[in-house]
Amino acid sequence: MAGLAPGVIASRLREVMEPGRVIDDPVSLLPYAYDASFWSLRRHLVPEVVVVPVDANEIAAVVKLAAEAGVPVVPRGAGTGQTGGAVPAQGGIVISFARMRRIVEIDRKNLQAIVEPGVVFADLQAALLPLGLFFPPDPGSGRACTLGGMAANNASGPHAVRWGTTSAYVLGADVVLADGSQITTGGLRSKALKSSSGIDLTKLFVGSEGTLGIFTRLRLRVQPRPPARAVVLAGYAALEDTVGSLEDLFEAGILPSTAELLDRSAVEAISLYRPDLDLPDGEAVLFIEVEGTAGHVASAARDVETIVRRRATVTRLAEDEGAIARIWAARSGLAAAIALAHPGKHRIFAGEDIAVPLAEIPRTIRRLREVGAELGIAVVFYGHFGDGNVHSAILIDPTDAEEVGRADLFAHRLHELAIAVGGTVTGEHGTGAVRQPYMRAEHGDALDLMRKVKEALDPKGILNPGKIY
Ligand SMILES: Cc1cc2nc3c(=O)[nH]c(=O)nc-3n(C[C@H](O)[C@H](O)[C@H](O)COP(=O)(O)OP(=O)(O)OC[C@H]3O[C@@H](n4cnc5c(N)ncnc54)[C@H](O)[C@@H]3O)c2cc1C
Repeated sequence: MAGLAPGVIASRLREVMEPGRVIDDPVSLLPYAYDASFWSLRRHLVPEVVVVPVDANEIAAVVKLAAEAGVPVVPRGAGTGQTGGAVPAQGGIVISFARMRRIVEIDRKNLQAIVEPGVVFADLQAALLPLGLFFPPDPGSGRACTLGGMAANNASGPHAVRWGTTSAYVLGADVVLADGSQITTGGLRSKALKSSSGIDLTKLFVGSEGTLGIFTRLRLRVQPRPPARAVVLAGYAALEDTVGSLEDLFEAGILPSTAELLDRSAVEAISLYRPDLDLPDGEAVLFIEVEGTAGHVASAARDVETIVRRRATVTRLAEDEGAIARIWAARSGLAAAIALAHPGKHRIFAGEDIAVPLAEIPRTIRRLREVGAELGIAVVFYGHFGDGNVHSAILIDPTDAEEVGRADLFAHRLHELAIAVGGTVTGEHGTGAVRQPYMRAEHGDALDLMRKVKEALDPKGILNPGKIY
């Protein structure tokens, strides 16, 4: 750590915050070396110190001290990230938000909520539910991940098709900058739902993965919760027909709230795990959800079913909550199903959330199936089909170095393919350390401007170094 013995920085930190919230015993530091990425499992990058602040002023004091000492600072939410984002690539201080989990305010009339960054997504959702509100971006990790981590990664989930990603819902933020100073973006006292005032600094920080500043408070837009929903399940004999159905829906002026894809590899796994769900055979299954008032949903769901029936081999309409829950159980049981279908293999997160143009989804999946077969790597495909977000579950024996090498090659080809077909290496999980090598190919000269922004905001390079740039 930049010229300072680990013990020295810990004792300095204990001067600016309660000593018990500065962690530096080696065993307690271990969990902070990992997130969900395979990258972190292979590196064991343990921080020198972890701090657990309770407010923005403590975070500012920590960052000021780190800036003076030239020591890296890495913000960490729940550590569910899959790209090494919260892992201290160059050592230093990890900031945990475990003690900043307050929902400061839910302003129902103005459709917004103010939260501390450590609030878990599901806790906000539970608080909004009785008020008839919800926060639309819905990552699969929602029961664990924090809103700070979601804002930093611009996370999203199945509902992004209709509702968009986290970026659309961050109206403003309190941010600690690299010198320990503090700013508020989106207007000091603003409760406006939109603004054209000044440069949109909120957007600059959202998705910057803790490399430009640290969120200490977020002002989030929330939405009235649609009271009813229905799901159409459709089975297909050809991947192309899934895209055809989506085009048909768009042509009819219908934007579903989700359109989730299970490739045949995922259908086979789920059918083994939950045969009672009776998923249709074929190349793919789509779950298409519509939301709204009960009257709207009743007619929209029928319209969707009529339209997708043109190309699907099987359709099923689920309108009551029991039937809808059964359909979504198929999707949420996927991780367990994959494990059952591939005994002895472990799922690794090494390249799992590319997003490609809708029309390219069939070609992309087909090519990736071929690459997996060529390399002898088992891969299960699924995804948030409605916005081109193709997920790939890579399954290997992590103790087999040769197989790990082939999985690395698969992940590399997958990232390259995403760019080649006009997509992106990450639709929702972020760049972190894992996707860093692809930034030049994806962004060209724009990467240089990203670096200049980074240098301008963090000239000493102390904020989450080793990521993105
Ligand atoms: C099983 C599983 C399913 C998942 N499903 C989805 C999904 O459907 N959609 C999706 O988008 N993601 C998904 N993810 C990835 C991950 O959950 C999201 O990226 C999530 O937003 C990370 O939140 P976190 O609190 O765990 O952040 P962390 O992993 O702790 O950190 C993520 C990044 O945010 C930065 N950060 C954290 N807090 C702050 C802060 N206060 N200020 C500045 N920077 C900060 C960190 O430095 C890091 O760069 C999934 C992960 C798993 C393990």
